[in-house]
Amino acid sequence: MLEVRGLDARYGDAQALWDVALDVGAAETVCIVGPNGAGKTTLVQTIAGLHRAAAGTITVEGVDVAALPGHRVCDHGVATVPEGRRVFGHMSVRDNLLLGAYRRPARAVHRETEARVYELFPRLKERATQQAGSLSGGEQQMLALGRALMALPRLLLLDEPSLGLAPVIVDEVFDAIAAVNATGVSVLLVEQDVERALSAASRGYLLIEGRIVASGTTTELRESADVRERVLGM
Ligand code: ATP
Repeated sequence: MLEVRGLDARYGDAQALWDVALDVGAAETVCIVGPNGAGKTTLVQTIAGLHRAAAGTITVEGVDVAALPGHRVCDHGVATVPEGRRVFGHMSVRDNLLLGAYRRPARAVHRETEARVYELFPRLKERATQQAGSLSGGEQQMLALGRALMALPRLLLLDEPSLGLAPVIVDEVFDAIAAVNATGVSVLLVEQDVERALSAASRGYLLIEGRIVASGTTTELRESADVRERVLGM
């Protein structure tokens, strides 16, 4: 589904990603864990075409999208749920969802997709006409997920979905991610909550100072000395 090789990213003279390589298989959930400032958001944004890669390839279903802008990457089946959710608070829940379906193939079937999003998140249906800004943090996270699903993605990039949410709400959000994954959508999950990320994924990568320093199944990562010392604080 996704194959990243030799990926570098920069902010001016400062290099944020160094020679990153990773894979996400079809219908797989893969996590990226790492401390603050490791480059996790930069990695998501670079894959999504929102930050330009300085070097390397980002191949989605066999097509290198590294030089494409975000809306074109979206056309290859990649949708992003950004850090902090970024829902449009003054617009209704429904209008926020419809924004996710603005590209052509998704637009043609937006009614059917909207109905499926409401099946997955009944609370969004109840609140469809409410302003998104009046939703709780957890509901806004569901809305951000729903908006991404409106684009009919085959790969979902999730940046810190647990950020700022109470643990019981995080459980709900992760249940929703699992439900989305069960429909066959591949998930790349970036999380500071390492335990949650390792529980949700089947494989993962440890990113430190812009480099992948460990990778493996989540069982292997839990046992890795780097993960235990550098992100689990053991
Ligand atoms: P956090 O979990 O705190 O969001 P992160 O792992 O997502 O961290 P990034 O936000 O990707 O890390 O940041 C990686 C590095 O790039 C950091 O050193 C950061 O200071 C730098 N950086 C991020 N955004 C910018 C920017 N717009 N301009 C300059 N440097 C940036």
